[in-house]
Amino acid sequence: MAREIHNAIVLRRSDWRDYDRMLTLLTPEGRIEAVARGCRRPKSPLLSAAEPFTAGEYTLYKSIAHYQVEQYRSTDTFYPLREDYERLKHAAYYLKLAEMISLPDQPCQPLFDLLLRALAHITYGETAPEIVTMAFELHLLASLGLSPSMDRCVRCGVQVDSAAWFDAEGGGVVCEKCRKTLPDISNGARRIMMRVPMTRFDALSKLTGHPDAPEAARFTRRFTSLRPEMHVPSAPDIREIF
Ligand SMILES: [Zn+2]
Repeated sequence: MAREIHNAIVLRRSDWRDYDRMLTLLTPEGRIEAVARGCRRPKSPLLSAAEPFTAGEYTLYKSIAHYQVEQYRSTDTFYPLREDYERLKHAAYYLKLAEMISLPDQPCQPLFDLLLRALAHITYGETAPEIVTMAFELHLLASLGLSPSMDRCVRCGVQVDSAAWFDAEGGGVVCEKCRKTLPDISNGARRIMMRVPMTRFDALSKLTGHPDAPEAARFTRRFTSLRPEMHVPSAPDIREIF
């Protein structure tokens, strides 16, 4: 058996035998499935180690069959999420997206850092949840090389620098000449979607109450849900007004 220490975030848990749970952990080194033995016993020291959202340092033993959680030190449980159902729905969506995108043994430090930042902001921040979610989606798309094209028509390549039309399936904005029956996108929403991937989460609060932010969030969600590698059926609603 080999001992490994990983920074990790619990993405998912499922019951396993009588008192155990199987955990899906996101670590900077890749996704790991690990058994938390006895964690469903009332006084288990691993009780909170096996809760979704818990982030911390996990000491794992690796046997031929699987990883097993030996001990852990929590850095954050994002506890206030349990008391705000709206924010909890958004945060649960982040865990699902992270699980879809990560792979075993494939290092993913940027995804790990992004998830931690997004969880901190959705839990403790003042920014509207829809804006944090849009930022998480756009940063994730950028890291995968899947960003929507917001300044060039995806059909003819012409530069777009004003209000335009949006082809979520086709990959971004469309010029007037190519638009056909597509929904139009305001210049403000287009610029938000272009800039958010380069904006730090700390600076997002200025978008709360911005008149074009709901439109940008809706187009971002539609765009994200149409990427096969990022389609999560239970994604939270982007409300018309937030
Ligand atoms: Zn065009």
